[in-house]
Amino acid sequence: MTHHDVVVVGAGLAGLAAARELAIHGVDVQVFEAADASGGRVRSDFVDGFTLDRGFQLYNPAYPEAARVLDHEALNLHPLTRGMDIVRSTSTGRAVLRLADPRSPGNWHTSALSRAAGTITGKARFAAYARTVARLSGHQFDERVDEPAQVALARAGVDATMIDHVIRPFLTGVFLEPHLMTSRRFMDVVLASFVKGTPSLPRAGMQAIPDQLHDALPAGTVHLATPVHRLTPASIETDSGTITASVVIVATDATHASALLEEAGLTTELNTVTNSVTTWYHAVATTSLPEPLARGRSVITVPDKRSGPVINTVPLTYAVPSYSPDGQILISSSTLGVDDSTEVAQAVQGHLQFLYGAETSGWELVAHYPIHDALPSMRGPLTVAESGEHGPVILAGDHCATASIQGAMISGRHAADAAFRRLGVVRPDDRRIAV
Ligand SMILES: Cc1cc2nc3c(=O)[nH]c(=O)nc-3n(C[C@H](O)[C@H](O)[C@H](O)COP(=O)(O)OP(=O)(O)OC[C@H]3O[C@@H](n4cnc5c(N)ncnc54)[C@H](O)[C@@H]3O)c2cc1C
Repeated sequence: MTHHDVVVVGAGLAGLAAARELAIHGVDVQVFEAADASGGRVRSDFVDGFTLDRGFQLYNPAYPEAARVLDHEALNLHPLTRGMDIVRSTSTGRAVLRLADPRSPGNWHTSALSRAAGTITGKARFAAYARTVARLSGHQFDERVDEPAQVALARAGVDATMIDHVIRPFLTGVFLEPHLMTSRRFMDVVLASFVKGTPSLPRAGMQAIPDQLHDALPAGTVHLATPVHRLTPASIETDSGTITASVVIVATDATHASALLEEAGLTTELNTVTNSVTTWYHAVATTSLPEPLARGRSVITVPDKRSGPVINTVPLTYAVPSYSPDGQILISSSTLGVDDSTEVAQAVQGHLQFLYGAETSGWELVAHYPIHDALPSMRGPLTVAESGEHGPVILAGDHCATASIQGAMISGRHAADAAFRRLGVVRPDDRRIAV
């Protein structure tokens, strides 16, 4: 029977981050992944010259743990245009509220934002809130009393107009829920990173992120297409047999982790509720670009309230030209839930017409991705599993921290820290940062 110091179940960002931390300190670690490639929820497809991330997502280079671990230069990050367009219905049709740069708090209370987005005092209070969270680091995020984002914003004195017409439309696309019931802790992490960094895409697609982590591991560390069927605190079972280990890290999503733990007779109280989303990719020929799209801005456009199914849309090609073949602009749009029926596809096309103020009937639907368990629901108040230690096994995954790339990677490091403690490994180069 084969034995290793540590086995990790799952090669998403959490599992890869844990394995990286262990491997660079000389621990014998092996990773077992059910899918045919690493990355988990961060995967990309390459179809007819288009780069299609499996679900629209962005990487913020200000994520502290991700920045510590990843080689940003090698990722060749392309930032989106800073700013946001908010489109609302008016008696005469539609109006666009253009936020020059909602990620810099200064802009939240300047004339960049018209009265339609709230009072000057309300905006100033939101700016102050964002500045405060941008100064937090590490455990300071966890030390603040947690509650739903909506309650935290109201308590901070942000007026209802600003919440309803600016913050909610924006955060719906981040939380994948429209009620701002998500934990303020998650909102704080998101706002802090938005103030400090510009969301970006790697030139080669989001999959470049897990690929970089995978490629940094010793050859043969990750076993793809090898689902783990059962585990104990000291072993896992795959189709090839049983592998024993001094430490087992379960770095799957909460649903699979829960099933594995239950099957092993280990008590579990994991939150397995998730939020779902569908990403729609349309291609538009540059020869027939409508005026709003011809400006070359990869700005995120959102409806100010639910005027149709689309929660956000952005022309990705303007940020990363390699995302589409020459002569085409790739547009990503998101809808909540996983209904990808013809009716919804048509409603999306119609809503895009409203959002871009342009005829969209000729836009080609290149692909769409309904993603059932896109994010763990982070309904506030949250209980944060600090160490990742869950009885005899160690857990990692975004469900242990925040529903983000940062959350997945920091949970991986916490799991590695717990494994070091159990193995009695003292690291000479203990470059820990408190996150
Ligand atoms: C559509 C979408 C948009 C997003 N947008 C953003 C964004 O803009 N910014 C951001 O920071 N984050 C975003 N996220 C969140 C981010 O992608 C996730 O938080 C992160 O990738 C989760 O990583 P993970 O390792 O915790 O879990 P996962 O990626 O789910 O990895 C778990 C792995 O475990 C494997 N596995 C499961 N069961 C088994 C088993 N029995 N045996 C072996 N392997 C198993 C799975 O195949 C998977 O590879 C988004 C996610 C989605 C889906």
